[in-house]
Amino acid sequence: MADYYRLLDVPKNASHDEIKSAYRKLAMKYHPDRNPGNKEAEEKFKEINEAYEVLSDDKKRQIYDQYGEEGLKGGAGAGGPFGGFGGGFGGAGMGDIFGDLFENVFAQGGGRSRQQRSHRGSDLKYETEISLEDAYKGIKVPLDVERTEECPDCGGSGAKNKDSVKTCPQCHGSGQVQYSQGFFSFSQPCPECGGTGEKITDPCEKCGGQGRIRRKVSITVKIPAGIEDGGVMRVTAGGDAGTRGGAPGDLYIQINIRPHSHFIREKRDLIYECPVPVWQAALGGEADVPLIEGGKTTIRIPAGTQFGKMFRVKGKGMPGTGGRPRGDLLVKIKVEIPVELSARQKELFQGLADIAEEKATEKENPSEKNTTGNVSGDSRKETGFFDELKDDIKGILKGKKKK
Ligand SMILES: [Zn+2]
Ligand SMILES: [Zn+2]
Repeated sequence: MADYYRLLDVPKNASHDEIKSAYRKLAMKYHPDRNPGNKEAEEKFKEINEAYEVLSDDKKRQIYDQYGEEGLKGGAGAGGPFGGFGGGFGGAGMGDIFGDLFENVFAQGGGRSRQQRSHRGSDLKYETEISLEDAYKGIKVPLDVERTEECPDCGGSGAKNKDSVKTCPQCHGSGQVQYSQGFFSFSQPCPECGGTGEKITDPCEKCGGQGRIRRKVSITVKIPAGIEDGGVMRVTAGGDAGTRGGAPGDLYIQINIRPHSHFIREKRDLIYECPVPVWQAALGGEADVPLIEGGKTTIRIPAGTQFGKMFRVKGKGMPGTGGRPRGDLLVKIKVEIPVELSARQKELFQGLADIAEEKATEKENPSEKNTTGNVSGDSRKETGFFDELKDDIKGILKGKKKK
């Protein structure tokens, strides 16, 4: 014989509120929705409900205290002294107790509402690739998306026509079937109709009764100027259609930006590696720099410009999003050493080498002759070397003219 007080873990003289609070705690713990497939929890949940049903009712509690469980059973059944439970179980009292937590569980009529069978459609994720120029300008990209959509023939009902939708004979349209245990009745989704409350006698031919079809659709995605590599755009309701009136999912599109032949992107800035011949780096001059919007700009290279030196061209980077200004174009100098030398070039470089060698020997150690003339790898001498190189090239060029 069940001890209702022990089941709820309350003393015999527990107040109404104490009982309610104890019940609420236990009912949540053992609720079938929290313990799917757990028979033990289900059993416990029934017992707790049974105990609460009695102890929360002053009349029943009095009978139980006086005569025990047997006293309550006298003439029990659907038409027993305390009324049928079909309606009572799902009534306001229970709804009040679970309220926020199990909104749909104790819906009116003692069962789950039919809407609960509806599901939101799945979100979809696609990727597309654009060029850096497109990311600069913004672009409309066509995209083929395969998704499930509401069947156009049956409007999502899955039925061939209105007459082929019948009220489910087993649940009479409620979508729920009830079973009783003692005082309590529990409801489950109707196995006959799957909880929809309807039975389709003649399914729609196009979707085979599914109400949804798989379809390839071509959409156009408007990509805003300045989008980041890997940026994700959301098309609300662009995903799979929901079932039974459920909302459609969303479509997410990840935008990948192809590597560019000239520019490296650093957020809103662009980096351009500008090749400068070694003599130009030494003598100074001008260099053309391409622009992302097309065309080019010219930057001045001061004499003695070192490898890796950065120049900033203001406002020639990527556009800023969200009201931010356009980024800059950073020009990184890459001093190019010629790989293949003509006879004349070789002669001139040899001239430079000879001069550098002479100077190095003079300055550093007149007694020790440095035959390699190697000045690289010594940062201390670098600036000096370029200064000298500049002078030497000028000298060589003048000499050349004289000839
Ligand atoms: Zn259909
Ligand atoms: Zn049914």
